[in-house]
Amino acid sequence: NSTSPPIAATLIPGDGIGPEITAATLEALDALGAPFKWDQQVAGMAGVNACGDPLPPACLDSIRSSKLALKGPLETPIGGGYRSSNVRLREEFKLYANLRPARTIVPGGRYDNIDLVLVRENNEGLYMGYEHFIPIDGDPHAVGMSTGINTRQGCRRIVHFAFEYALRKGRKKVTVVHKANIMKALTGIFLETAREIYEAQYKGRLEFEEVIVDACAMKLVMNPWQFDVLVTTNLFGDILSDEIAGLVGGLGMAPGANIGEHAAIFEAVHGSAPDIAGKGIANPIALMLAAAMMLDHVNRPDLGDRLRKAIDATLNVDQVRTGDLGGKASTREFTAALVQRIRASA
Ligand code: NAD
Repeated sequence: NSTSPPIAATLIPGDGIGPEITAATLEALDALGAPFKWDQQVAGMAGVNACGDPLPPACLDSIRSSKLALKGPLETPIGGGYRSSNVRLREEFKLYANLRPARTIVPGGRYDNIDLVLVRENNEGLYMGYEHFIPIDGDPHAVGMSTGINTRQGCRRIVHFAFEYALRKGRKKVTVVHKANIMKALTGIFLETAREIYEAQYKGRLEFEEVIVDACAMKLVMNPWQFDVLVTTNLFGDILSDEIAGLVGGLGMAPGANIGEHAAIFEAVHGSAPDIAGKGIANPIALMLAAAMMLDHVNRPDLGDRLRKAIDATLNVDQVRTGDLGGKASTREFTAALVQRIRASA
């Protein structure tokens, strides 16, 4: 309903194509009458240029207060010892769940009718960065070591999230992806926790399945339709989420949500695309789909669905597409056509 009160949210346009796709997304949200009241902040290279910090305190304060953000891609400055702002955001706001839906929007690709969701644990596993070298015989880097950590509590939290998400979205099956046959401790407790939680709380309400990660990678290519919701640990999720983006036309169509105890941050999965930045040809759909997830998150799935349907119609009925999808439209032309579709759907 159009009378709902405004919802405070942080807007980070980001680097490279970020400002172009953010402007396009805001136009679409305005046309929808989305209830967000934006506080615009800088991060990434834009943060470094503005105040020498890729994650300025003002940006963090804004997210702390709004608990909700839409974020364009951030470039990690090379050299200067900067850590990735994306990783810092995940840690700062304990964004433990990374949600990556993959749905076919443009039929006629290698795989049609794909509709699956990957839930990736975002705070633990082999991504914690506990890495070091052991020197031997004068070679300081003779041995490289990495320590992965999964906690029972972290496993419970993400598995719970995946089951609840599946129920809320009317999904049928949750597949837990692991490598417990080899990494018996690190991913063994993940699998064990998933089984326990399923048996205790979700049996009869959802189907449950276990797949080893290497087999999962193959099955996704051979027959992706057998999956529905997948839940896995950090590194496996990182790899499989790019694989499922590839099933539906690549990174230009892939949105992501990072959901945590203290905030939820929505973003496009792709980077700042420096090769096409400033040319006005970027595909804004990934960020727009992220905005649609953000609307779902604030209990406005009606608006999220309208946005998704309008994107679908612009691509497939009007046949207006940007270059990465084989079309000729600029970012502005695509957005203008989309806005017409959104208005027509009111
Ligand atoms: P990238 O995703 O920026 O680009 C890869 C290729 O895909 C490029 O050819 C690019 O032109 C194309 N592409 C990406 N998004 C597109 C879009 N919306 N429309 C049309 N074409 C698109 O990956 P990269 O080049 O490896 O990374 C560039 C920068 O982005 C790096 O600094 C990296 O650290 C950063 N990055 C940020 C995030 C994030 O903030 N979430 C994610 C990945 C990479």
